Amino acid sequence: MNISTILDMAAEAFGDRIGVVSGDSRYTYAELRAAAVNAAAAIRASGAKYVALLDVNSPAAPVAIYAAAYANVPYVPLNYRLTAPEINELIERVAPAYLVTSADYAKLITPRADVQVVDRATFLSLPATSEEPTPADDPREVAVQLFTSGTTGKPKAAILRHENLSSYIFGTVEFAAADENDAIIVTVPPYHIAGISAVLSSTYACRRMVQLEGFDAKAWLAACREHGVSNAFLVPTMLQRVVDHLHDSGEPANLPALRALAYGGGKMPLTTIQKAMALLPEVDFTNAYGLTETSSTIAVLGPDDHRAAASSEDPAVRRRLGSVGKPGAVEIEIRSDEGQVLGPEEAGLVFVRGPQVSGEYLALGSQLDNDGWFPTKDRGYLDAEGYLFLDGRADDVIVRGGENISPGEIEDVLLGHPAVADVAVVAMPDEQWGEGVAAAIVLKPGSAAEVAELQELVKASLRSSRVPQRIVFKDALPYNELGKVLRRVIRQEFV
Ligand code: ATP
Repeated sequence: MNISTILDMAAEAFGDRIGVVSGDSRYTYAELRAAAVNAAAAIRASGAKYVALLDVNSPAAPVAIYAAAYANVPYVPLNYRLTAPEINELIERVAPAYLVTSADYAKLITPRADVQVVDRATFLSLPATSEEPTPADDPREVAVQLFTSGTTGKPKAAILRHENLSSYIFGTVEFAAADENDAIIVTVPPYHIAGISAVLSSTYACRRMVQLEGFDAKAWLAACREHGVSNAFLVPTMLQRVVDHLHDSGEPANLPALRALAYGGGKMPLTTIQKAMALLPEVDFTNAYGLTETSSTIAVLGPDDHRAAASSEDPAVRRRLGSVGKPGAVEIEIRSDEGQVLGPEEAGLVFVRGPQVSGEYLALGSQLDNDGWFPTKDRGYLDAEGYLFLDGRADDVIVRGGENISPGEIEDVLLGHPAVADVAVVAMPDEQWGEGVAAAIVLKPGSAAEVAELQELVKASLRSSRVPQRIVFKDALPYNELGKVLRRVIRQEFV
């Protein structure tokens, strides 16, 4: 099915309901649909082959997603945090394009004849059209094209077809599941898959979407209270900042409307989720694991598992708080480096298969194997009950004399030290073993720890090959805006 059907259904069932709240703007579902239909007419008239968005969260994001679908061209949200040359290189790759932006970002764009730059305010108030949209019937048409972060080379363009995104939404969200007062707060940027799935799933649930342009813990808490937010999604560092803010300010959480908080996009430290659950005991927590190439979430650890893990005496149940739960509407398989399918508790590479999995890039083509399996870059294992535990990214594994060492296990031990606030373990060159173990550590304010005592701590808990040969203390670790630690930058410290 074409993803524009999602907006058609919401507008028909609940046209008067507020679909988006952004600053002082409010759009009902009927208004969102009208804006998207009008924009589709303008896009078709422009002859553009892509609809691009270079902007922070605003009503233009949902309108552009659906307008592109109505006009039957791919929607390409661009990362506004890139440098001007990087942005212009991506624009060149999507020309001829209809590009929606705002004044702050328009100045980064080099004018081109084949790119029509449209200001966000103009885009949202285009003249009404009598033309009915003609979305593609073919579910194999491309709905969304997302550029990867490009940290390992030129950004790849991941392709998500209508069938991938609609399989994800129809398979995981119930139509009109929200009641009239429900609201979800969205802080992830529009150029990330989580930003796209937030739009599609809240439209399909007919939920009010409260958009924030960026993330600040205090502003997030205030917006949750002001708008009676019932559902939220945060990446781990955002939840960490909410927890820290509540702790440091002594401010009570006071979020009476908040029922459900999902988190994901990166590894959640155990201590953060434990603190969050203690601060918000009434809230249903869900860990969502997903990738761009899989149209977002593929496995979830739901609220019951969170509560069971927090209260059970059974160690197998308790440790599930560190898992990403069970596969949703997909199959997950673990394979060895040699391609053999592994059994429970055996660690290897995580493979995924299902209708929401695209696994396809422009130019590179499909990365699915003959049986439709997509190799994620994650390492992990399934337990006997089918819970998936992630063990870090394959690229981050330290290979020390042929032995695979996952940074995560060492980081967990170091985080157990009372003085350690944050840590990243990375590979460093080692003449004898090829690669060795190094750690960058941030200490809690006013705390102290010696290198030798931290090394001892690791030695006491893990094998001696895991002991960091070098430890450096930093004021802060580098993160990207989605809370992923930039290991490549940290590795430079140890070269
Ligand atoms: P890029 O490919 O652009 O360099 P990326 O691989 O981080 O960036 P995404 O598709 O945004 O691209 O991220 C997917 C990855 O994020 C997963 O492969 C996994 O490593 C991590 N991830 C996502 N959700 C979770 C989660 N709930 N727990 C742990 N890790 C997660």
